[in-house]
Amino acid sequence: MRAVRESKRSKRSRFLRDAMVDVQIASRGIRSRRVLFAMRQVPREIFLDRRFAEAAYEDIAVPIPKGQTISQPYIVAKMLEAAAIAKSDRVLEIGAGSGYLAALAAKLGREVCALERHEALVQRARSRLRHLGCRNVDVRHGDGTAGWPEGGEFDVILVSAAGAQIPAALKAQLAPSGRLLIPLGDPDGVQWLTKLTREPDGRFVEERIEEVRFVPLISG
Ligand code: SAH
Repeated sequence: MRAVRESKRSKRSRFLRDAMVDVQIASRGIRSRRVLFAMRQVPREIFLDRRFAEAAYEDIAVPIPKGQTISQPYIVAKMLEAAAIAKSDRVLEIGAGSGYLAALAAKLGREVCALERHEALVQRARSRLRHLGCRNVDVRHGDGTAGWPEGGEFDVILVSAAGAQIPAALKAQLAPSGRLLIPLGDPDGVQWLTKLTREPDGRFVEERIEEVRFVPLISG
C-alpha cells in the first residue's frame, strides 16, 4: 500500500517537473538540452521544507532556513546554460543553500565543491544530496568570498548570492577558458547576472546576462 502511494507521489512530482521545464524554462528560451534534461531529473521538492513543498514547481524563489531562498527555476536554468558545464568540468559553487543548484551541476559536470556559510544549511544540503544519491558533490562550511584555495582551479564557478564586485580570490581560481557566473549589483536593488570568462590568454571578459534578485553575498 505504501509503495503504491509513493509511486503515485513520484509520478506527480515528475509530471509537475516536466510542466515546470516546458512552461517556465524551455518556452522562455533556454535551449541547452543537457540543462533541460538535468532539470527534468532532479526533484526540487526534496530541497524544501515540507510546508513549502507545494510551491516547489512554481515560478518563484522559495524560502529555506536562515532567511535564505532557493532560486527561481528559470534563473537556475539561465545560470547553468550560461556556464556551459561540460562532463569533465570541475565546478565550485558559492552559497550552496538548499543544495538544489549543486545537485543539478553535479548531473552536468564531473565534480562539484559547494561552500555555504550557514552550518545548519550545510548539514541539511548534505543529507538531501545523500538521499538523492549524488556522490560527486562535496558541501563544505565556509566563507566563499575567500574561494577554496586547496581546491585548485575550477572550470566553472557559480556564485548564488549577490555581490558588489567579483571577489578576487574567485577570479584567481578560474581555470583558463573557465566561466564564472555571479549576480552583481546592489543587494537590495538592481542586480545583473554577470558572466566572466577567462580567455585562454588570461584576459577576463565580462558580459551581462539578465536582471536578477539574489540574497546578499556576505563575507566573513
Ligand atoms: N543555490 C542555492 C541558493 C541559496 S541562497 C540553492 O539552490 O538553494 C544563497 C546562499 O548563499 C545562502 O544560503 C547564503 O547563506 C549563502 N552565502 C551568502 N554569502 C556567502 C559566502 N560568503 N560564502 C558562502 N555562502 C554564502
